[in-house]
Amino acid sequence: MEALVPTAALEELGELVGPAGLLTTASDLARYEHAPNRLSGRAAFVVRPADTAEVAAVLDWAHRHRIRLVPQGANSGLVAAALPDGTGVLSTERLRGRFDVDVTGRTLVVSAGWNLDEINERLAADGLHLPVEVGSSPSAGGMVSTNTAGSHLIKYGDVRSRVLGLRAAVPDSAGTVLDLLRPLRKRNEGLDLKQVFIGTAGAYGVVTEAAFELAPLPASRAAAWLAVPEQHLLDVLTDLESRCGPALSAYEVVSPTAVRLLADHFPQLTHRVPDSGGFLVLVEVAAADDQADDLLTSGLEAATDRGLLTDARVGPAHHMWEVRHAIPEITERMDPVLSLDLAVPRSCIAACRADVVAQLALAYPHIEPIELGHYGDGGIHLILPLPEDIAADRDAVNALRMFVYDIVVHRHGGTFSAEHGIGPKNYDAYLRYVPEQVRMVAGALKSHFDPRDVLGSVSLR
Ligand SMILES: Cc1cc2nc3c(=O)[nH]c(=O)nc-3n(C[C@H](O)[C@H](O)[C@H](O)COP(=O)(O)OP(=O)(O)OC[C@H]3O[C@@H](n4cnc5c(N)ncnc54)[C@H](O)[C@@H]3O)c2cc1C
Repeated sequence: MEALVPTAALEELGELVGPAGLLTTASDLARYEHAPNRLSGRAAFVVRPADTAEVAAVLDWAHRHRIRLVPQGANSGLVAAALPDGTGVLSTERLRGRFDVDVTGRTLVVSAGWNLDEINERLAADGLHLPVEVGSSPSAGGMVSTNTAGSHLIKYGDVRSRVLGLRAAVPDSAGTVLDLLRPLRKRNEGLDLKQVFIGTAGAYGVVTEAAFELAPLPASRAAAWLAVPEQHLLDVLTDLESRCGPALSAYEVVSPTAVRLLADHFPQLTHRVPDSGGFLVLVEVAAADDQADDLLTSGLEAATDRGLLTDARVGPAHHMWEVRHAIPEITERMDPVLSLDLAVPRSCIAACRADVVAQLALAYPHIEPIELGHYGDGGIHLILPLPEDIAADRDAVNALRMFVYDIVVHRHGGTFSAEHGIGPKNYDAYLRYVPEQVRMVAGALKSHFDPRDVLGSVSLR
């Protein structure tokens, strides 16, 4: 693989995409080289094709010249997967030609470069939304390629469950474009090939268009922050599920360490949450009628009667979410920290987090974990503020990551990547925990779609 791109090859690339499609100056490249959480990379150039045909031509160019390209959408990923390592970036930001809403069919076919906020702003006029609740605004292609999850997963599922079809260009020798786009809810024709491109970090091809199943916007939403004793965190969840049914749209657990951070950094928000000193839970109900408030109130009354809650503050949903979104804002500014994106089977979550916290206290007594849990789907974001001696030693940081991952994966049947996907930041964990048989199939697919290994920041081999 060439580290430097020959001038003639770059000129040829410029001819394929036109002047607006190729960036090469340091000042133009800078914004593609930095991602959230202080992640950074270095780009040799950025190519910005404007439609599927241009993407296919660019991939054919990369194949012929053996020049690596990393697809990049909104660059909001948290595992450095869209960052170049001295390679080229294939930005999807100019892929915006298509935005076709079928209101009756409740589907959207959209080019990869549209981002979530723009999509939902446009869909609102039709009473629809793409129901992904995250603190970022990822691109359509990035959501497909990372299988974004977020806080509404318990009601709406992950992005994979919303993708009805997609179009992808692959860097093989034939310049293949796979048209798997038909927005069919039922399709039983054998291999569901689109799955190869979902959650696989652009390792096999560039998603240029996607068809999503949409959801009706709820007519009413209600939310509350609850004070819940640790031993009842799962009981309250199952109790609310049985009373609110599919209307329960979020169940987010925040540890006492995270609540303390909130009080230190956003004291003006603390009146919106109970003052309990213990675990807090953000719960949200989204209803098709105007009954969300009543549904939530009756659910909370029943849980209180059963002795599962000690306190609750009900308020407008957007106010309550502001509190939840403030916490990652604080932890993102903390440095140095190690952020882990974990999940276990939901019924194991209490045992797993207790085990991790207890083992950390024994082996790393100076680290006080901060926890944010998407408890409804078994997810735990574990944020570990690092003592300076560990932070300064890469091997020590890796040892700490593997210490936690081993507990989660081996003892509790969980995963090292719940929702952020695979990238250079966690590729060693991919090699350690993903079974060899799975990696062999992934490698065979890589050889088929990308025989010269020119696409993506990770090979998935
Ligand atoms: C504040 C904040 C909160 C977040 N909260 C959540 C959360 O709750 N849940 C969650 O799941 N994530 C969350 N994220 C992570 C992030 O937003 C998601 O991973 C997102 O889906 C990435 O989309 P993107 O467009 O930014 O992709 P990028 O970061 O640009 O790329 C991500 C990966 O997809 C590949 N890729 C991008 N576009 C394409 C394409 N068209 N074809 C092929 N490959 C492509 C890239 O090569 C890379 O491997 C959060 C991030 C931030 C900053």
